[in-house]
Amino acid sequence: MNRLVRPIAFLLASLLTLVVTLLRTPDAQAFYWGPAQFPGASTTYLIDGSYSWSSSSVQDAVADWNYSAYFGFGYTGGGNNHIQGADLGCDFGLAGMSPADNGGTRNGFTIQVNNGCGTPWYDGTGQPPSNYYDVRSVMRHELGHAIGLCHNNDQFELMNTFLQPGVSYGISAEDVTGVNWAYQPGYVGPGPSPGCP
Ligand SMILES: [Zn+2]
Repeated sequence: MNRLVRPIAFLLASLLTLVVTLLRTPDAQAFYWGPAQFPGASTTYLIDGSYSWSSSSVQDAVADWNYSAYFGFGYTGGGNNHIQGADLGCDFGLAGMSPADNGGTRNGFTIQVNNGCGTPWYDGTGQPPSNYYDVRSVMRHELGHAIGLCHNNDQFELMNTFLQPGVSYGISAEDVTGVNWAYQPGYVGPGPSPGCP
């Protein structure tokens, strides 16, 4: 009798350990949220003349957010949100997003993509060559900041601080969870991890 009970007890204990381990797995649905957001879950943008890549690189990234998450970017050629190219120098990195926040409400942003420093950019819809940075991935990343997401600690995800050349980054399940948490009425699920890494 004991021979049977003990293996079952061991199996149950092992299963319990597995469940607890899975529950404790960090970053299972981790996202980090900034202080401000668009209360209407939508906004418009315009592409300034300084942006030297194709307009479809912005429109593709916008469409990905609109399709994947509960958010609506609309292109009107106007509004407070600017997409620009700028010589940001070699220390700056690939791109940046400057928010205009007002009392917890985001009423504008400027995304600048670095057209200086000889950074090799890929402006296509396929897999970027190994030494080229994918402008669509960078645009998705900055739009994620604009919507309200902070960086993610996962080095393989779109909202990681450092995007690698030769990689096309899509919107992750964590990113979608974050946007749904902020914008979807009646959302039930995990909230943001503390901090804004
Ligand atoms: Zn970033």
